[in-house]
Amino acid sequence: MKLVDKIAATLAQLQEAVELYPKLVFANSLGAEDMVLTDLIAKNSLSIRHFVLDTGRLPEETYGLLDKLHDLYLIDLQVYFPDHSLVEEYVARHGINGFYRSVEERKGCCFVRKVEPLRRALTGQSAWITGQRREQNVTRSRLAACEWDDAHSMYKLNPLLEWRTADIWQYLRENAVPYNPLHDRFYPSLGCAPCTRAVTPGEDLRAGRWWWENPENKECGLHVASRMPGAA
Ligand code: SF4
Repeated sequence: MKLVDKIAATLAQLQEAVELYPKLVFANSLGAEDMVLTDLIAKNSLSIRHFVLDTGRLPEETYGLLDKLHDLYLIDLQVYFPDHSLVEEYVARHGINGFYRSVEERKGCCFVRKVEPLRRALTGQSAWITGQRREQNVTRSRLAACEWDDAHSMYKLNPLLEWRTADIWQYLRENAVPYNPLHDRFYPSLGCAPCTRAVTPGEDLRAGRWWWENPENKECGLHVASRMPGAA
């Protein structure tokens, strides 16, 4: 499918979602994919609220992009922060960088800094949108364009599912959309600064995320779980 057709299909899916769901939100990660969605939503004046999860450990470049977004786009955007008491408890038990010690401790940190704020951001909403793509890695190869999110009891839409990396970059360049400068330094997938490294040619697109773990563990819990790892 040509890019122009993918854009039309994505736009049609977004427009249909606006009709279907009275409270529709976009979980904007500020990654390259999500900048495509930001641009499409803003340019087409779609009534979709954006939210960003600020984990407190994001790279400085991501904060720069967030600031740019505020200046460039007329969008309804809210930033969610972690619950400070949960962060303090985590750090007291595991240390400031406890996430390097084990998958369980890493998921515990992701729960406190991402999953719990996500739950708050989705409370009272009818459906949410993500920029996930099938091509990104093994954990995303079986996604559907619209799927039931059991953890949050609402539909989750993935309108860029069939876009290839080249499509994303063609769109960003042709439309002069701002993006995180770390992408130009071989960071195809961005997250928290201590848990993201650059990739080398031929590596999986998400190989730089939690690079010390096996590929099948490489999700932060935003798309798979809603309770604290290890909790009953
Ligand atoms: S990506 Fe790393 S720093 Fe960020 S929430 Fe997860 S474990 Fe914590």
